[in-house]
Amino acid sequence: MSETNFDVVVIGSGPGGYVAAIRAAQLGLKTACVEKNPTLGGTCLNVGCIPSKALLQASEEYAHAGKALKRHGVMIENLQLDLPTMMGHKDKVVGDLTKGIAHLFQKNDITHIAGWGALGATGEVIVSDDGGAKTVLNAKATIIATGSASANLPGIEIDEKHIVSSTGALALSEVPGHLAVIGAGYIGLEMASVWGRLGAKITVIEFLDRIVPGMDGELATQFQKMLRRQKMKFKLSTKVTGAELTNSGVALAMEPVDGGAAETLEADVVLVAVGRKPYTEGLGLEQAGIATDGGGRIEVGDHFETNVACVYAIVVTRFIYRDITWRGLWQVSVNSMYLTAQVLLIVAAAGVFSWLLTVSGIPQSMVKTIDELNLQPWMILLAINVLLLVVGCLLDPNSAILILVPLLLPIVQAAGVDLIHFGIIMTVNLSIGMFTPPFGLNIFVAQALFKVPLKSIYPGLVPFISLNIVALMAVTYIPSLSLYLTRFVG
Ligand SMILES: Cc1cc2nc3c(=O)[nH]c(=O)nc-3n(C[C@H](O)[C@H](O)[C@H](O)COP(=O)(O)OP(=O)(O)OC[C@H]3O[C@@H](n4cnc5c(N)ncnc54)[C@H](O)[C@@H]3O)c2cc1C
Repeated sequence: MSETNFDVVVIGSGPGGYVAAIRAAQLGLKTACVEKNPTLGGTCLNVGCIPSKALLQASEEYAHAGKALKRHGVMIENLQLDLPTMMGHKDKVVGDLTKGIAHLFQKNDITHIAGWGALGATGEVIVSDDGGAKTVLNAKATIIATGSASANLPGIEIDEKHIVSSTGALALSEVPGHLAVIGAGYIGLEMASVWGRLGAKITVIEFLDRIVPGMDGELATQFQKMLRRQKMKFKLSTKVTGAELTNSGVALAMEPVDGGAAETLEADVVLVAVGRKPYTEGLGLEQAGIATDGGGRIEVGDHFETNVACVYAIVVTRFIYRDITWRGLWQVSVNSMYLTAQVLLIVAAAGVFSWLLTVSGIPQSMVKTIDELNLQPWMILLAINVLLLVVGCLLDPNSAILILVPLLLPIVQAAGVDLIHFGIIMTVNLSIGMFTPPFGLNIFVAQALFKVPLKSIYPGLVPFISLNIVALMAVTYIPSLSLYLTRFVG
């Protein structure tokens, strides 16, 4: 390697690292990317997103040809699975994409350095090649982008043959008779889908009482129904306590999380898909003084900067915000102004709507009906609020709490409070931040229905609107500010 001085050295060439390297080079910085694997692209391109999606598509085609086509009268006799060809196609997709990254590196004049990268003295990255030879790179800035590795369960040894991680599951040489998947996250379920479609019996064992933790609960329930229709079996709230290799495969020991009888599950292959952990061992973090959370996650600030000058990290990180800055506070203000403007726009649209009601003559006909029904104005207000409540609830179930607000109106009316005071109550509503647009709307609709000129309803219209804006700013600013400040805790 001839050149050893760089503006930026990126360690790791996954989606985090290669994008950072390309951007740095595009900005005119002299950039190198250190990668320990023979190919670029990291987990995602080599043993993650890309090969898993290639196999998901291929296995779906197979399942479709085997089952769904029959319904359409398309009969395929002697349908066969050629697994080596399927795997070959997946490998080609991976190969094409990883070569694509190499091409992008070349095009952007990025130096690809093969080897294991670690932090050295300040401003140094030490690269060790397979033979153990070391090269010291000088970097004005270093970006750690070393990604993650499969997590494991204590007492279970992954051999990538019978007990596999997702990497092994992407490269099985034959379809297992029975695949047991530990962990119902998206990686485990993707692999379960692939091998299930290709003919394996699937049992998914999950510690929690639901699948895909982190995904919306209702979606997860529907998703599980779909997977059950694909004949996947689930053992939820179950913990795996051990795995032993047997003559025929693996014996998996498990027991209910809440206590109960232990049981053993026999499987040909077991996939351990219990999450991923930061890949930060052997990077020399401790010697370099880089703060981590103890679990290998590097602590970074707003700009992904670590606590050591000129070292950044986009590996699995933990955000730590060190200083309350004017920039941060300004950002909070801008967010709050933006939200206020949104709400005011909707209220203004409501105003235009009620003006249209007035000029179209609809309110007159409504007023006539109201006269005939001998309704009191407070009844109309109540009806409008209930209507808005129903519409609101359809749009956003959380606004069900508004049921309490219309109840106030008869009381207000009975107490002889006039519409100016009613306006003040609206302001209170705005300040508690509950579904502000309908309240804006209802002021204008009420005005249109009562055919009272705005002037007489709101002699204090300017103070009323100003107060609303201030209240809105407050209700949007306070949560934004507290959210911002909570980032400085720990
Ligand atoms: C089976 C599977 C399916 C997935 N599917 C999806 C999906 O559909 N969509 C999605 O968004 N995400 C998916 N992911 C997650 C995705 O792969 C990761 O989020 C992504 O790869 C993270 O990118 P990264 O650059 O941070 O790290 P990585 O892609 O892990 O890249 C890190 C790179 O750093 C290298 N490295 C590590 N240490 C060193 C060192 N000391 N010196 C030199 N090089 C080093 C590694 O070899 C690796 O190439 C999937 C993951 C798996 C396992």
